[in-house]
Amino acid sequence: MAVDRILPSAEAADLLGLVREIADGELAPRVEAYEARGEFPREIVRTIGRAGLLGLPYDEEYGGGGQPYEVYLQVLEELAGRWLAVAEAVSVHTLACYPVSAYGTDSQRKRFLPDMLGGELLGAYCLSEPAGGSDAAALTTRAERRGESYVVSGTKAWITHAGVADFYDIFCRTGGSGPGGISCLLAEARTPGINPQRRERTMGLRSSPVAQIAFDDAEVPADRLIGDDGVGFTIAMKALDSGRLGIAACAVGLAQAALDYAVAYAREREQFGRPIIDFQGLAFMLADMATQVSAARALTLAAARLRDAGRPYSLEAAKAKLFATDMAMRVTTDAVQVLGGYGYVADHPVERYMREAKVLQIVEGTNQIQRVVISRHLTRG
Ligand SMILES: Cc1cc2nc3c(=O)[nH]c(=O)nc-3n(C[C@H](O)[C@H](O)[C@H](O)COP(=O)(O)OP(=O)(O)OC[C@H]3O[C@@H](n4cnc5c(N)ncnc54)[C@H](O)[C@@H]3O)c2cc1C
Repeated sequence: MAVDRILPSAEAADLLGLVREIADGELAPRVEAYEARGEFPREIVRTIGRAGLLGLPYDEEYGGGGQPYEVYLQVLEELAGRWLAVAEAVSVHTLACYPVSAYGTDSQRKRFLPDMLGGELLGAYCLSEPAGGSDAAALTTRAERRGESYVVSGTKAWITHAGVADFYDIFCRTGGSGPGGISCLLAEARTPGINPQRRERTMGLRSSPVAQIAFDDAEVPADRLIGDDGVGFTIAMKALDSGRLGIAACAVGLAQAALDYAVAYAREREQFGRPIIDFQGLAFMLADMATQVSAARALTLAAARLRDAGRPYSLEAAKAKLFATDMAMRVTTDAVQVLGGYGYVADHPVERYMREAKVLQIVEGTNQIQRVVISRHLTRG
């Protein structure tokens, strides 16, 4: 465990111990083969679900783990260091559980949450569209009320878990233009008319399926509207505040893994008759990497503690996502540099870490959008 981590309880320390066992025993030996095949590890995600890791920050009353966000993020960090796609699966699923947990009625929570949080079902979060990613409030997927159903038509883009998820949060237009016309539906993946398209061929995270989803007059029962009609955009943004902290934690875990690998390599590799870590030019690069990882971890956990205390944390989540993911890009790129030519080939994991880091600067609001959020707070006070 990183030396700058302090866990809030003995229970949390035990949990992290269990997660480390799973990460070392189940994830580390399999990651390279699954990434090379581009295969989604559904069974491994199921194992993680059965260990209680797919509902960690949610109410125990509905089958969640009842853990503070601070602890959940450290679990994500641990997973991300072994296999980012699996950590991402946990983070996206946790994001997908947010709408019904925070905005569902009592009866919706009782009906849907136990299976969602218990690990049997996997979720996806469908906000982005082909013509609108950053400007999510302009989304055009429509849901028209007909009798006891909503009939959904349109196309979502970039959906993580498209084709492997069991349920989809669909953010769709039930009213007029702008954010106030958007609602949130919780749909079963097997609903006729919900048609995942060809998988995208991604730079990294190749074992994580991402695709467009076509909604061809898919009928979703009206009792699956989450929150009131027209509050979908608010739900989507609040979910992303939490989700961004998950992405920040993934970035910290990935960067820590890159740092650890680079340090171990630099101690072993000799040039000019000495281990390369003895060269100050290289050792200072490692020192900067270590400092940046710790700074990103501290910022991320500080934002999580605000959330755990029930305080506003949206601004701090944006800062953490921005800083941690830019940091992961720098640190993984430097890790490749530390290995020289060996860093550029797939025999060592650092080239994968570098490819994986890139996406973290893009998902759940690009880092330009995080700057928009932060500067808006500064402008408006
Ligand atoms: C692997 C992967 C998985 C994803 N998973 C999901 C998912 O599960 N669910 C989901 O809904 N979405 C998902 N996304 C989509 C992701 O959230 C979007 O790609 C992202 O929000 C950016 O949208 P865009 O790609 O349409 O880019 P655009 O919005 O077209 O942006 C293009 C460029 O313009 C910049 N830009 C845009 N507006 C501004 C502005 N106001 N100021 C400054 N710069 C700006 C952006 O930062 C970016 O650099 C995923 C994406 C990827 C790559």
